Amino acid sequence: MLFFHRVNSIEQKVTLVCLFCGLPFQRPEDTEYASGDMIECSECGEFNDYDSVIEVAKEKGITELSKEVKHQLKEEFGNLFKNKF
Ligand SMILES: [Zn+2]
Repeated sequence: MLFFHRVNSIEQKVTLVCLFCGLPFQRPEDTEYASGDMIECSECGEFNDYDSVIEVAKEKGITELSKEVKHQLKEEFGNLFKNKF
């Protein structure tokens, strides 16, 4: 199950995971959830609050994205440096 997350025009796919067991939800791609829904985990059987799951996914996405941006910046600076000399 994926969640599309948009940060600074970069679209990101974040895998939604169970808040109880930490495993990704096994759901058909076209399953849609809305705010207030409960998602049953097929692994541990717990019900997850959709909004909380999204919040966690967003936080995870932002952390990963900032890592990626830092990496890109580093490479760009590296190239700039190379071009100068
Ligand atoms: Zn679970």
